[in-house]
Amino acid sequence: MQTSVTDKFNRGLRDLRVSVTDRCNFRCPYCMPAEIFGERYQFLPRADLLTFEEIICVIEASVQLGVRKIRLTGGEPLVRSNIERLIEMISSVKGIDDIAMTTNAYLLDAAAHKLKKAGLHRITVSLDSLNDAVFQKMNGRGFSTAKVINGIEAAKEAGFEIIKINAVVQKGVNEHTLIELVEWCREQHIVPRFIEYMDVGTLNDWKLDEVFSAAEIIDLIDDKYPVEPVDPSYLGEVARRYRFKDGKGEFGVISSVSQPFCGDCTRARLSPEGQFVTCLFAESGKDLRELLRKGVNKKGLVEAITGVWNKRDDKYSENRSSMTIPKKKVEMYHIGG
Ligand code: SAM
Ligand code: SF4
Ligand code: SF4
Repeated sequence: MQTSVTDKFNRGLRDLRVSVTDRCNFRCPYCMPAEIFGERYQFLPRADLLTFEEIICVIEASVQLGVRKIRLTGGEPLVRSNIERLIEMISSVKGIDDIAMTTNAYLLDAAAHKLKKAGLHRITVSLDSLNDAVFQKMNGRGFSTAKVINGIEAAKEAGFEIIKINAVVQKGVNEHTLIELVEWCREQHIVPRFIEYMDVGTLNDWKLDEVFSAAEIIDLIDDKYPVEPVDPSYLGEVARRYRFKDGKGEFGVISSVSQPFCGDCTRARLSPEGQFVTCLFAESGKDLRELLRKGVNKKGLVEAITGVWNKRDDKYSENRSSMTIPKKKVEMYHIGG
């Protein structure tokens, strides 16, 4: 039976971001600083991760409450083995009409065809800079851009039409390479989305003066290639869209720090070990794994999610400047972007 659910601000539940692993092959300092995530870091043991079957149970319950879009994320989703099997399983859930993935694309070259065959619709590749020296620093592992570019090529060859690029812009780190990325995306017919550096988690030592704001990003691009705003493609679109006046493509900016968009936020997140999280900046989530492993049925799962969503009053980004920042926050590498 199809029902819908709303939170305290009358926001529905439409998107579910599923983080399939807390592991990653990169160590982007703004997300998983290498000093903290070193060789001795204890990632979740395999038995703690939700199985694909358990993830599907949560997706099916969420679909009953209004979810239509699934985004696979992580950590790095391509390091979870047999991820294509999970995509196949999601493809056969009735009611899901969009399956996307956010990836650093380091392993995409080899995976693109099987992801497409399994039913993945869209890929967002995170690529902060085309400049090798800058990229090497920003992925924390010294990897060059070549493998990421190969991954993007492979995705195009596999038939993915909508490939987006996500680039976090950090003041003093990569803003000087932003135009190069814009130019490349214009040639490749790829839509870049520039993300303000956010205070997610507690490990990246975030400072407001490291944020290169959406307004600064737009000005920088407009100076070189004049732009104009475009209407959102759908309600709740996270990125604000701009097109180049010369007709050669568009880009987006995600201004979660300078111009928050909590009012339309219909996204929930599922952590690798089954925490159902209602905000990117939440302190914790609801443990669905415990319920699943105690044998909860679909109705029970739907009720549990409904209970959490009905109580949801998250508006972190809108309230950030006026609130006391919580000491504990879920980490981005854990619940995905
Ligand atoms: N590993 C995959 C990737 O990088 O695409 C998926 C997970 S990653 C956590 C998802 C997105 O979050 C990436 O685009 C990344 O750039 C972004 N991200 C991570 N930490 C961030 C931060 N502090 N501020 C803004 N975006 C961040
Ligand atoms: Fe890994 Fe993505 Fe975080 Fe970078 S942003 S460390 S690629 S999870
Ligand atoms: Fe949604 Fe929380 Fe981000 Fe606001 S801060 S847009 S409620 S995830």
